[in-house]
Amino acid sequence: MRSLIDILDLSVEEIDRLMDVAASIMENPMSYAEAMRHKKLATLFFEPSTRTRLSFEAAMYELGGNVLGFSEASTSSAAKGESISDTARIVAGYADILVMRHPKEGAPLVASLSSPVPVINAGDGGHNHPTQTLADLFTIRHEKKRLCDLTVGFCGDLKYGRTVHSLIAALSRYTGIRFVLISPEELRIPSYVKRDILAESGASYVETTDFEGALPELDILYMTRIQRERFSDPAVYERVKDLYILDPSMLKHAKDDLCIMHPLPRVNEISVAVDADPRACYFRQALYGKYMRMALILFLLDEKQLSVPSPKEVSETVSLPVRRDAICKNRRCITTTEQELPQLFKLANPKEGVWRCVWCEHRNT
Ligand SMILES: [Zn+2]
Repeated sequence: MRSLIDILDLSVEEIDRLMDVAASIMENPMSYAEAMRHKKLATLFFEPSTRTRLSFEAAMYELGGNVLGFSEASTSSAAKGESISDTARIVAGYADILVMRHPKEGAPLVASLSSPVPVINAGDGGHNHPTQTLADLFTIRHEKKRLCDLTVGFCGDLKYGRTVHSLIAALSRYTGIRFVLISPEELRIPSYVKRDILAESGASYVETTDFEGALPELDILYMTRIQRERFSDPAVYERVKDLYILDPSMLKHAKDDLCIMHPLPRVNEISVAVDADPRACYFRQALYGKYMRMALILFLLDEKQLSVPSPKEVSETVSLPVRRDAICKNRRCITTTEQELPQLFKLANPKEGVWRCVWCEHRNT
C-alpha cells in the first residue's frame, strides 16, 4: 500500500504515468465516471483550505465515489485532544483513502504509519504539499507539451514558499531545466535548497532581483505571493511587498508562448488585466489539479499497485544513521503535540553533520 506524503515519494516514471492518466481523464471523463463507485474518500482538514478540499471532493465525486470528512479542527475530535495516530486509525475504518491537511509538519506521515488505507498529504504547515506540485507539473506538461529543456522563472517569496521548493525538487529530475530565481535579497532561495537540490542534481540556475530583465528569456513564470505573516519586521514587508507586480506592459517583451503560473490565491502580484492574456495559465492550473488528484486517487486505490513496494517505507526512512538524543526545535513539528511520538533524526548531510527530524525534516544543526 502506498501513501503520498512528499512529491519525491513518486518516481519520475510514476509521475509521468499519473499525467498520462490525468490527460486521459480530461479527454474521456465519462469513461472514469464509475471508477470509484462504492469507494469513500475522507477529508481530514485540521485547518481550513477550502480550495484544496473542494478539489479533492470534486475529484472523488467525478470518479463516482463518495466523500466524508471535516474541514477544521474545532469540529473534530482533535479538539478533545485525540492523537493523529488514533484519528487516522479510526477514520480508516470508514473510508478507503484519507486526505489530510494539518498545521503541524509531519502529521500526515504519522497518520500514514497507523492507517491501513492510503494517506494523501494535502499540506502540512510550511513543509509539503505534493498534490500542488503534481498540479504544477501537469500544467507545464499540458501547456508546453514537454517537461524538459525549459527555462523556468520563480518570482517573489523564494525563501518560505514551499510550492517553489517542491517544484524545483520535482523539475530537477528532468533534463535541460534552467532555473531563474527572482526575489528580493531578504527572500532568496535558502542555501540548503541550492546545495541539496540544485547542486546535487546539477541543474543550472541564476539568482537575480531584476524581474523585467529576466522575463524575456522565460518559458515558464511561476509567481508567488509575499505573505505578511512571514516577516518579523513590518518595515521590511512594506519595502518588498509590491516589488514584483506583473502587468500587461511587462509582457510585451515576454515570449509569445510563455506560461504564467501561480498556486493561488493571488493578492496583487499579478494584475487582473493579465487574466485576459492567453499566456495566463493560473486558472487552468487549478483545473489541472483536479484531474491530477483524480489520477492519484486511481493510482493509490488501484489494487494492482498493492504489490509495488513503497520507495519510502518508514523502516527505510529511519534505516539511515538515526539519533534519538535531541529534540526537534521546529515549533510546528508534529512531535510538539503528538504524545508518545519518538524524537527521531536522520543524517541529512554527512559532510556537514546536519541532522534532520524524521517527521518535519527541520534541520537541527
Ligand atoms: Zn520535527
